[in-house]
Amino acid sequence: MNDCLFCKIINGEIPSKKVFENDKVYAFYDIAPQAPVHVVIVPKTHIASANEITAENSSAVADIYTAIPEIAKILGVSETGYRIVNNCGKDAGQTVFHIHFHLMGGDVGGKMY
Ligand code: 5GP
Ligand code: ZN
Repeated sequence: MNDCLFCKIINGEIPSKKVFENDKVYAFYDIAPQAPVHVVIVPKTHIASANEITAENSSAVADIYTAIPEIAKILGVSETGYRIVNNCGKDAGQTVFHIHFHLMGGDVGGKMY
């Protein structure tokens, strides 16, 4: 856990461009944006991926989704729309094993399904 990149971003050990923070959630601009607006939203508690969500820790996901409307408002995409993406594991391309949700707005390349 000490080696977790996003834990280090949350505790300020690694700098990030903060968009939003409350006691449960931290959101910051992605270092390699894949859309005109691209923010990463993480719970402050370390959960490796969607595979590790349980009845005991799933409030972390609710905390993220509770923050999303406010984050979208800050980013100015509430009305124009945005996509939320969570990659879990190798085949989905997850590279950082601290669960996170990408919020992407602007030209997000149409529908994905
Ligand atoms: P994943 O590929 O695991 O779904 O998403 C990880 C995301 O974290 C990637 O979009 C990547 O660009 C972003 N990322 C990786 N390292 C850093 C960093 O040091 N700072 C920031 N702001 N984003 C990072
Ligand atoms: Zn972590």
